[in-house]
Amino acid sequence: MKEKLAKLDKIYTRFETDSKELTQGRACNKGCSFCCSAAGSIDITTLEGLRIRRAMEKMPKPRQTTLTKAFRREIKKREAGTEAPCPFLMKNKACMIYEIRPFSCRRIYSAHVCDTDNPPAVSRKVMDMAADTIKALQKLDDTGYSGHLSFILYMLSVPAFFETYMGGDFKPEEIMDFGKSHRIVINCKMG
Ligand code: SF4
Repeated sequence: MKEKLAKLDKIYTRFETDSKELTQGRACNKGCSFCCSAAGSIDITTLEGLRIRRAMEKMPKPRQTTLTKAFRREIKKREAGTEAPCPFLMKNKACMIYEIRPFSCRRIYSAHVCDTDNPPAVSRKVMDMAADTIKALQKLDDTGYSGHLSFILYMLSVPAFFETYMGGDFKPEEIMDFGKSHRIVINCKMG
């Protein structure tokens, strides 16, 4: 698992290097939280979720408690079909886990300043590079799953799932019901 986690950064860096020229004129600035507050699905792999979970465990207890409650509320909203701000978005509009934010957040940028009438404008070439990167991330996490951030973190909080995943075992039947109802994708190719 340690080796796999180290490879995550290499995949992120490759994307950043390959897309650098195309994203040079980006309008994104510190303090803009458009993508985080009007957050669509923030899809992550289980491996990315594991790294985020470990970072959460190192946070002060009151923050952990606040986050746990925020994630529960966010899950309920999503299950009801409502978009919700990312629980890691702080009041000052900064990301609480910026250094280890998932690829879903790293790939997004915009050529113009966004608002509700002007969603992010992204180069098609960059989107293609991002699609290839997602494939590489899913291949790396071949015993894992992909899905919205809070759903993957929830799965990792279930002891049986956590043990299976950490043991390198692959038992999709364990998540079948939750997976179907929460649009969780199996990373490895079946059959
Ligand atoms: S993890 Fe950070 S960058 Fe990603 S949506 Fe949440 S607050 Fe924004």
